Amino acid sequence: MSDCIFCKIANGEIPSQMAYEDDRIAVFHDLEPQAPVHVLMVPKKHIASLDAAEAEDSALLGHILTTVKKVAAELGLENGYRLVCNCGQDGLQTVQHLHFHLLGKRQMSWPPG
Ligand code: AMP
Ligand code: ZN
Repeated sequence: MSDCIFCKIANGEIPSQMAYEDDRIAVFHDLEPQAPVHVLMVPKKHIASLDAAEAEDSALLGHILTTVKKVAAELGLENGYRLVCNCGQDGLQTVQHLHFHLLGKRQMSWPPG
């Protein structure tokens, strides 16, 4: 997707504060952090949302989820963290490229707003 901001960040076209990167995913710090640690985990492949993911994306999604603990450890989230995926209008998704928010270094509350 040529006009997708997260595609551009993931392929290095737009500079970002990268926390982790491999051949399939990029993890960068959120511009408006909602916690002392707040990074976004995105696939390098453009997938518009969790709702748009297909069965063929299962391994990629699994790779993101199994990389969470590695990124969390590197960012010092030894006390725990929250992983959030906003999807669609009701989920308040504002960037139409699948991303998981990884938040930590503060006590979270429940329910979310
Ligand atoms: P969501 O509301 O779940 O779609 O989250 C989108 C997130 O992307 C928000 O937390 C924004 O602060 C963040 N964001 C938007 N543009 C950028 C950017 N260029 N670099 C880093 N984070 C961004
Ligand atoms: Zn994209």
